[in-house]
Amino acid sequence: MLPSRFFSELTQPEIAAQFKKNPLVILPAGSVEQHGPHLPTGTDTLAANMIAQRVAELMDGLVLPASPLGVTPMHMPFEGTITLTPDTYMRLVIETCASTAQHGAKYLLIINWHEGNIPSLAIASEALHREHGMTVLTVQACYIAAELYGHDCGGLTHGGEIEALAVLAYRPDLVHLDRIDYSSDHTRGRKWDKLRRTRSYQPVLTDIRTIAETGWYGAPEHATVAKGLKMLNDIADAIAKEATDIFRMLDEAQGGTAEIKHLKIAG
Ligand SMILES: [Zn+2]
Repeated sequence: MLPSRFFSELTQPEIAAQFKKNPLVILPAGSVEQHGPHLPTGTDTLAANMIAQRVAELMDGLVLPASPLGVTPMHMPFEGTITLTPDTYMRLVIETCASTAQHGAKYLLIINWHEGNIPSLAIASEALHREHGMTVLTVQACYIAAELYGHDCGGLTHGGEIEALAVLAYRPDLVHLDRIDYSSDHTRGRKWDKLRRTRSYQPVLTDIRTIAETGWYGAPEHATVAKGLKMLNDIADAIAKEATDIFRMLDEAQGGTAEIKHLKIAG
């Protein structure tokens, strides 16, 4: 039994033994950015870490010490935001995971809660697969939350109920539902969020105030700790189940490619 699922809380022999037993590492991806007057700036990072920990228990993996920061220039108009450039973030992700690949980690599951990280993570994942031989799967945990709880929580909105629940689950002391004030207009927020999340059209937005004049919108006032815990557990269960299947499929596909290469050389 491991004393912790967090890589940086384990000793070297514990990590070496775990890589032999199951070479799966999980990288949480989030961001530090303003989340209105009621949620901490590290909301996305906290959500990603808590889900990653639960998934690590379910899939017998280790949670890597990821950057708390992400790529979030859109939130820079507000104090409380720290952004990395995509280039810095990609380097951080690649060098963190490649270090573990050198020591035997083979499977990488990236659990992301911040939409601004998506393009950088796609490029980093590709490099980790092609150049470092890892089998990589990225999951957008915030979209899984929207699929499972969006209907009940007014959708996935910046600073809304889904995000409040994610923090409430493990750090209720950081959530200030009594300070909820000046939510931006829901109709406008929904219109822009819907547009920027469509598959076919991808407008580039420079400033969160296009979506939400005050930096956030939603209705988190009814969020509770119990609902938050249930939500994070449901998300982790869904990810563990799906990721296990997808890794199996990737094994088959990548094994298949190796087989063809082998035949070619033999022929
Ligand atoms: Zn957020």
